[in-house]
Amino acid sequence: MRKHIVAGNWKMNNDLAQSVALISDLKRQNQTSTAEVMIAPTFTNLWHTTENLKSSPIEVIAQNMHFAKNGAYTGEVSAEMLKSIGVNTVILGHSERRAYFNETDEMLAKKVDTALESEMRFIFCFGEELSDRQANTQETVVANQIKKALFHLKASAFKNIVLAYEPVWAIGTGETASPDQAQEMHQFIRKTLRDTYGDSVANDMSILYGGSVKPANAKEIFSKPDVDGGLIGGAALKAEDFYAIVNAF
Ligand code: PEP
Repeated sequence: MRKHIVAGNWKMNNDLAQSVALISDLKRQNQTSTAEVMIAPTFTNLWHTTENLKSSPIEVIAQNMHFAKNGAYTGEVSAEMLKSIGVNTVILGHSERRAYFNETDEMLAKKVDTALESEMRFIFCFGEELSDRQANTQETVVANQIKKALFHLKASAFKNIVLAYEPVWAIGTGETASPDQAQEMHQFIRKTLRDTYGDSVANDMSILYGGSVKPANAKEIFSKPDVDGGLIGGAALKAEDFYAIVNAF
């Protein structure tokens, strides 16, 4: 059985007081689904959030990390630093990191290796731009992103990886891939895994959808057989909305 996962990416939102308030709202929510729940606060809020949620089933994860173990990388944070405060999962390759911070597939392959060497699980994000979909090249684009960053790995590494398909045109735009478009791409991603790594890697991989998931559309998207959960941006900033999505399974 594949894990269902709903992860909230707070992006660069919530100062200390706002994050404390959101965490206490999250703690008041009732979970009726069996999905794994994760939240990704900013670096400055990670420490108090891990402390605050120690006895909660919500996993606190990071939005990014550097590929180097330590050194002269001003402004960056390493895997070991994250692990030292109890953060064992990190988002890698979010489209905003790719677009605004020039993260390339090659750089992401290095981050992937560092995460695995540091025994960190990661959510690997990828997805096509609107122009790719208009040119009907979305499958080639997505296959290349996955292959360049991940296909140097051994099959055994994939148990520490979660994939998140996030069409760039649907992130923060209010525009969502239709449930059928999401299913079609998730099925293609699973087939891409199967062709190289075989059935067990493909069948066990949790593939999340991200891109304007809201309480109103989550149930239909999550009902698709190859969609195993969601990476949620805007709707993760309100506890009630986030849990309406968590409970959409
Ligand atoms: C995201 O940031 O990964 C995301 C999917 O954002 P939103 O839900 O706001 O589109």
